[in-house]
Amino acid sequence: MQALTNRAKPVSRKPMTLVEKLYMWNILKGMMITLRHLFKKKATISYPEEKRPFSPVFRGLHILNRDEEGRERCTACGLCALACPAEAITMEAAERLPGEENKYREEKYAAKYEINMLRCIFCGLCEEACPKDAIYLSETFAPSNYQRKGFIYGKEDLLIPSPKENPGEYWKAVGNRKANKEQSN
Ligand code: SF4
Ligand code: SF4
Repeated sequence: MQALTNRAKPVSRKPMTLVEKLYMWNILKGMMITLRHLFKKKATISYPEEKRPFSPVFRGLHILNRDEEGRERCTACGLCALACPAEAITMEAAERLPGEENKYREEKYAAKYEINMLRCIFCGLCEEACPKDAIYLSETFAPSNYQRKGFIYGKEDLLIPSPKENPGEYWKAVGNRKANKEQSN
């Protein structure tokens, strides 16, 4: 058949040698690549047993903070909800009753406080807006869940343990970054 252009290149189809027919050389070449990778530094880690260090500016799961006496700091002012660009925060305020001074720091507190993690973009504006140091983004991941409602975090999920009743769990929940900041103040 006549070629349309002169750009066609003839392909040489050399018959395979005996070594090539045995495929031994190619198998050895493949094994050597595998062996080389065995002794190389791994690009992956064994999560969750191993964890990568977070960036100093990492913003993770929200935490509702308590003061040094274990009282809830949040006064349900709504500034965090107002600052939230994703409209992820909702709350209901309640008046503190006589005798509840050891539970709530201010006269008004959040009886209900919810963050919809499916909306949240972890921008940290709620933390910036809070005048009471009541909410901040910790160094913890928001865990995965199979159901959408599992991503609606209520007050019981966000409020950290009391530093008076459970100091170990309190400092664990606070995280290193916030703990260092509080201790340097
Ligand atoms: S981190 Fe940003 S998006 Fe998430 S709740 Fe706070 S303000 Fe809203
Ligand atoms: S978390 Fe802070 S900004 Fe939000 S309602 Fe409570 S006190 Fe106000």
